[in-house]
Amino acid sequence: MRRHYFYSGALLLLAFFTIVTAFGQGTRGGPKIRTIIVDAGHGGTDAGARGKYSTEAEITLKLSLKLDEILRKELPDTRIVMTRKTDIFHNVREKAKIANDQNGDLFVCIHVNAAPDKKHKELSHYKTVTYYKGKGKSRKKYTRKEPVYRYWTTPNPMHGTSTYVFAADRADEKASGLLTEERYESEAEIVDVPDPKSTEAIIAARLWSQKFFKNSVKLGTMIEEEFVKIGRTSQGVLQRNHKGIWVLQATNMPAVLIETGFITDKEEEDYLNSEDGQNEMVRAIANGVLKYKQQIENRQTTRSDSSSTSKKTTTPPPVPDKSKPTQKPVAVMPSTTKRD
Ligand SMILES: [Zn+2]
Repeated sequence: MRRHYFYSGALLLLAFFTIVTAFGQGTRGGPKIRTIIVDAGHGGTDAGARGKYSTEAEITLKLSLKLDEILRKELPDTRIVMTRKTDIFHNVREKAKIANDQNGDLFVCIHVNAAPDKKHKELSHYKTVTYYKGKGKSRKKYTRKEPVYRYWTTPNPMHGTSTYVFAADRADEKASGLLTEERYESEAEIVDVPDPKSTEAIIAARLWSQKFFKNSVKLGTMIEEEFVKIGRTSQGVLQRNHKGIWVLQATNMPAVLIETGFITDKEEEDYLNSEDGQNEMVRAIANGVLKYKQQIENRQTTRSDSSSTSKKTTTPPPVPDKSKPTQKPVAVMPSTTKRD
């Protein structure tokens, strides 16, 4: 009799653990994120943007190493792959190849923005200029006043974070609003990439957008929300299809390019070079990644919960959380205003 109870109990326990394990493995959840690629922008011969005393390549490497460490610790079952761990140069094609060869499920690119000095022009005074007209005896002397200008520059006040996602065309704008911020930083790593206006590039970009655009916006939004929480100025999620972010659509996975601040802004250069600032930034990025991973992997459960309302959603969902009034709306740059 006692033996009978023992076996029943053991069977029940076994059944229980089987169910728990099945849930744990996400058989009812969304796709698993098994590999995350962390890409430190620039490096080696390409220093990227320059500040007063530091370079973009130095900062992106420090941030990426810290992000790698944090993600390894908190996601022990996820493979974290860095495109570079030292000060070496890869062009963006090589970066994309590493991400794809490693079967990445997520591509997180770390950069630092830069804005050129503001140019000013002011009328200083007028000078008298002498000139002659006519020939021979009719040659006459004339004078006229000409303005003299004073030129000078001041540091650009641009500051804050932004996260770029690749969008093939205007149709992708549906995912968010509009914002007009420019990406200024150096693009020395962008060599030998296809012309984004070529037919092949357009087709490839559209395919990528269909598969990965929404999730890229989702990840970008979550990261920018974390930046707002730590008090950073956020310019939101911006959408582009210019060469500078070509690498994103060359990866076969959702991909974001994070501009962690402006190296040309004294305060932000100091912040991004400080130990505390770097730790705060990678904590925020990691939080965004962790939340995204959790949401993607549990998607199927969430979807079945809201199946009754899912039919009427013609506009995609990634909109800012309205419960947080301090947060700037997540915005997307229209592809028509691109400059290149
Ligand atoms: Zn950069």
